Amino acid sequence: MGLFEGKKGLILGVANDRSIAWAIAKEILEGGGECGFTHLPDKPDDEKKKNRRRVSKCTDGHDGVRFLTPLNVQSDENIAEVMALAKKEFGQIDFLLHSIAFADMNDLGRDTIETSREGFKMAMDISAFSLIAVANAAKDIMSPKSSIAAMTYFGGEKCVPGYNVMGICKAALDAAVKYLAFDLGPKGVRVNAVSAGPLKTLAGVGAGVSEMLHLYEQMAPLGRNITHQEVGKSGAFLLSDMSDGITGEILHVDGGYNAMGSPGRLLDKLK
Ligand code: NAD
Repeated sequence: MGLFEGKKGLILGVANDRSIAWAIAKEILEGGGECGFTHLPDKPDDEKKKNRRRVSKCTDGHDGVRFLTPLNVQSDENIAEVMALAKKEFGQIDFLLHSIAFADMNDLGRDTIETSREGFKMAMDISAFSLIAVANAAKDIMSPKSSIAAMTYFGGEKCVPGYNVMGICKAALDAAVKYLAFDLGPKGVRVNAVSAGPLKTLAGVGAGVSEMLHLYEQMAPLGRNITHQEVGKSGAFLLSDMSDGITGEILHVDGGYNAMGSPGRLLDKLK
């Protein structure tokens, strides 16, 4: 029997087949789970509906896919609509993945000290507050033994130059994971995050992962970069019963990079 047999839930944050959310969803679908997906709303004048099409290219043809609906996490009304749809389709849900982040390139490209007020508010709203908003809207349909997982990055724990305003968002997200774990614990809902090493995705390339990939290869104890599938498996683990008893946790899937206190084997190359 698959790990997700009889389990139902929501996957927020697939943009295309390179998205981390899709890597996690694939594991869940292969494990027998049923999923509702969201996509970023298309602009009214986009007749080709590019956002929806990119996601449906992934989800089409999979038995466990129950719906694909637009979601902009900046709208409480839209979040409520998605939860109403999930309630109608599933009654209760057993897992919810939040794999969403955004910052304006103008702010990401600047030194942190020059971040604009509006850019900061938007990045925090989409990348950190949205986890709180989504968890609050979902709490009444979460089953008494269910799990929420978010995606984070080490740049929220330590300064990773280039990650800039998004690092501050991830620090807020990491704290939200812990506070939400406390709030939702009595309802039997667990809240965790996967802290992934760099992966080439739409958001990842925008946040400068291309340069980080080489560094991780040199510095991480495993001496290589992680794969989409590795993050997929760990995300699915946190959303499954296999991780019962784990909450408020930031699970690093980064080849061990975060454990290093020196450049490690990279030092040999600097000699
Ligand atoms: P991605 O671009 O595939 O996913 C980001 C998603 O956020 C997209 O689906 C996008 O539509 C969604 N999004 C943006 N603004 C939104 C809004 N207003 N409403 C609803 N959805 C919105 O890139 P990804 O790398 O898969 O990113 C997923 C998560 O993983 C993010 O939280 C990211 O910070 C995190 N992460 C990525 C890496 C990496 O190296 N790629 C590493 C660690 C953590």
